Amino acid sequence: MGDGNPSGSLGAVENLLIACDFDGTITRRDTLHLIVEEFGTRGLWAAIEPRLRAGEVTLEQAMQEEFATVRATPSQVRDLILREAGMRAGFPELVAWAEARGDRVIVFSSGFRSVIDAVLGAWGLGRLPVVSHEAVFSPEGAELVWSDRGEPCGECGRRCKRHDLRRHHRGERLVYVGDGISDRCGARLADLVFARADLARDLAVDGVPFVPFEDFVEVREHLESAEPIAA
Ligand SMILES: [Mg+2]
Ligand SMILES: [Zn+2]
Repeated sequence: MGDGNPSGSLGAVENLLIACDFDGTITRRDTLHLIVEEFGTRGLWAAIEPRLRAGEVTLEQAMQEEFATVRATPSQVRDLILREAGMRAGFPELVAWAEARGDRVIVFSSGFRSVIDAVLGAWGLGRLPVVSHEAVFSPEGAELVWSDRGEPCGECGRRCKRHDLRRHHRGERLVYVGDGISDRCGARLADLVFARADLARDLAVDGVPFVPFEDFVEVREHLESAEPIAA
């Protein structure tokens, strides 16, 4: 289906969709956290969170409330992120490896496109497709623009990444790389999961198999050694 390996002759090599989280996965630090810490009201999340837990506000409303206190121009945000986010080693090399095989790498993020595009562009990876929300930054306070994730997910009850994954998947072998709560549901769709931090702990608790990773050199080496990947 779709744009599989055009050579097709060996048959044993199945194309991959490498679905990759952004914050804390491609970057070493969470850009949303960096932005709020630098330009917003520190500690506000602690006040919002009880209302979120009590179901008085949705996650989207809670995040909008938090980001309304973020007063910065787009270029201030960009400068901060380019200075502080940091890249997890081996990501550009993984992308080049995947592209040479005819695989696709897509960034699936619950963060903001302008931030992600700025970082990827600075790293020479501006060509990567990005599926995310958006934030419009201004000195009067940031406004969040939510992408359409359809109806709430049948698995987790939220508008999670699963919808986006399904929409972009073309029947390749699905590889998911992530680190956090926003990856929990989408990762469970994948044929192979690379996980670190909170995602790794969650999957371990639930008995979902995954490969631990700390950088993309490990991810590439694992994918290479697993080739041709058995179904
Ligand atoms: Mg993350
Ligand atoms: Zn879900």
